[in-house]
Amino acid sequence: MNPLKVVHSTVMSCTKCQLANEGRINPVFGNGKTVRPDLMFIGEGPGAEEDQCGIPFSGRAGREFNKLLKALGYSRDSVYMDNVVKCRPLQNRTPTTGEVESCHSYLDQQIKIIKPKVIVCIGKTSASSLMGVGNKPMKYIQGTWKTYDGIPITTIYHPAYWLRLENYDKKAWKEVKIKTFEIMRGVVKKAQNLEKQNEQG
Ligand code: SF4
Repeated sequence: MNPLKVVHSTVMSCTKCQLANEGRINPVFGNGKTVRPDLMFIGEGPGAEEDQCGIPFSGRAGREFNKLLKALGYSRDSVYMDNVVKCRPLQNRTPTTGEVESCHSYLDQQIKIIKPKVIVCIGKTSASSLMGVGNKPMKYIQGTWKTYDGIPITTIYHPAYWLRLENYDKKAWKEVKIKTFEIMRGVVKKAQNLEKQNEQG
């Protein structure tokens, strides 16, 4: 069987952590381009809409995120979208470190199978788990680079945060969106340069 399908099937019946018992409807596996995409995005965990339909980033924040992808010249099918935990934390609470650790082996296997050129952590929970940045605020770590298993990895604010800002601080909302777009242009350039280097052998 295709190795990604094996991981998918294990996740669908997983009860390794507390999130299996918090009322999840569907475990939410990653989706998109599964063979060496330029970009793999990793968020925190499924929300209510994702839990209902089983598709990552399908809620309001995901639709907002799609606009950013489109502006960068990518479609949802041309990138891979995933989360650090596959099951919805009740009332969208932040998953615990133990829950993230329990789910990590699935994500790690997905990364090794898919082999993205660049990984982008969406939000602090993902960055803390995959970039080893501890509890540092996003304003200091957004756009910084590390490697995960030899793959360049960076982080941007979660689109749910942009949406919250839009309601109470239009100036900060604009600044975050401009900064995120600027970071993402650098990310795309890095992925394209890696592809060129690969072609040149
Ligand atoms: S969050 Fe991950 S480890 Fe926990 S039950 Fe769901 S699939 Fe299993």
